[in-house]
Amino acid sequence: MPELPEVETTVRGLERVLAGHRIARVEARRPDLRRALPEGLGQRLTGAIVIGLRRRAKYGLIDTDRGDTLVFHLGMSGHWRIDPSETGKHDHFIVETDDGRRLALNDPRRFGSLDLVPTEELPDWPPIKALGPEPLDLSARELKRRLAGRKAAIKLLLLDQRIVAGLGNIYVCEALHRAGIHPARAGGSVSLQRLERLVPAIHDVLEEAIAAGGSTLRNFASPDGELGYFPKSFAVYDREGKPCPCGGTVRRIVQGGRSTFYCPKCQR
Ligand SMILES: [Zn+2]
Repeated sequence: MPELPEVETTVRGLERVLAGHRIARVEARRPDLRRALPEGLGQRLTGAIVIGLRRRAKYGLIDTDRGDTLVFHLGMSGHWRIDPSETGKHDHFIVETDDGRRLALNDPRRFGSLDLVPTEELPDWPPIKALGPEPLDLSARELKRRLAGRKAAIKLLLLDQRIVAGLGNIYVCEALHRAGIHPARAGGSVSLQRLERLVPAIHDVLEEAIAAGGSTLRNFASPDGELGYFPKSFAVYDREGKPCPCGGTVRRIVQGGRSTFYCPKCQR
């Protein structure tokens, strides 16, 4: 499942193909992903010049010179393919540029989405408006304020996109482990001093993953290049029963219907 670093890597890869280029052709091969594609999508994008690409939480934002922003979300299984030699049944949306590059949004499970929003209305677009601050912009004091009085588990609160936007299961597990915080601890009970370890841990796990993703972009120009997925290694995530460097053993619990991996010896 793509998390923030995969989306950031994808945006940087798409930027190399799209930025400054005119969209020569688009093809929507089905009427919907998780929800219906916008009406007139092809008409509004064809001929437009891409003037910038950005990310907000797990949304990729492609700005055009017509004042529109194409917003994509990769859902559970989405990824963009670069210059595919042939397209397949899961390539639902195709973009071709004026210099002959081709991009295909491939999404076998179709939990992703595509929306076209006037760029100046984007901050008020409900899915974006509801989001908390970017994790890479977060400070410990701001997080303390957002967690104040909350009795839910810190793990679940960090996954709440209204508290902090774009964090997913993997990086929350890893950041809590680095900060030595037990995932079931009540969010409001975590001291500022401990949040001052957690917030840099969040920054570090995300930035390390973004750097790992960035290193995979070197060969993205190869035919059938796929953006956004790269090998990663984790300290606790998906390591139930394996040793922690502290001498403890990684344990798995279920919180909010999802697996949490942590070390009971060094996370309190
Ligand atoms: Zn440990």
